[in-house]
Amino acid sequence: MTGTDTPVVVARRVARTFGSGAAVVVAVHDVTCCVKAGARVVVVGPSGSGKSTLLHLLAGLDRPTVGTVSWPALGGAPSGLRPGIVGVVFQGLSLVPALDAAENVALPLQLAGIDDSTAMASALEALDRLGLAAVARQLPEELSGGQAQRVAVARALVGAPMLIVADEPTGQLDHVAAASVLAALQQAATAAGAALVVSTHDPAVADSFVERWVMADGRIEWAG
Ligand code: ADP
Ligand code: MG
Repeated sequence: MTGTDTPVVVARRVARTFGSGAAVVVAVHDVTCCVKAGARVVVVGPSGSGKSTLLHLLAGLDRPTVGTVSWPALGGAPSGLRPGIVGVVFQGLSLVPALDAAENVALPLQLAGIDDSTAMASALEALDRLGLAAVARQLPEELSGGQAQRVAVARALVGAPMLIVADEPTGQLDHVAAASVLAALQQAATAAGAALVVSTHDPAVADSFVERWVMADGRIEWAG
């Protein structure tokens, strides 16, 4: 099954627990959800409601304890060794401090075996597309919070993904910087033709999405 109607990711009755016995934590419980090609989904809910755990499952970074996650439009499960399938913007600071912005963006391609000069050319193009050409040679510590997160967006975009997952990408930013990161994400998803799943606490970010999943206690309590 292929084509634009094919979902990029489907989770069926998924649970993810951590630990065991009396110490067990049920982070995600009986979640069924689907992200269609090109969708724009925001995931909201209080801290500890399971947003990060669910996003990691959808990105293929983690496996469910129960249930299944599949990627029908991607031709198989994502793998760190196949760039371009899923781009991830992690919660919090995630740039490698010793690498400059361009080297950070090139890293996923290099890890996937793409030669250094091709990876760097793609990284510079991704940075340029997000208006970050001027900071390409700066280290993360020399960037503002908003710039650093936009570099992280460029890193998610660089492999031309079909799915971009961003976990509270504006968490530590003021409203102006948050708006610029959100715009960068939307622009990256549109440029790549990718579906976008973003978790957030920020009502201004949430309001800019049409499709919304509300999480509570590890469940999607409401979707619409
Ligand atoms: P959110 O992103 O909405 O804040 P999380 O998915 O991070 O929620 O966490 C959901 C629950 O799972 C929380 O109770 C959290 O403490 C727990 N949890 C998440 N990751 C782990 C882990 N690696 N080990 C143990 N507990 C975890
Ligand atoms: Mg989280």
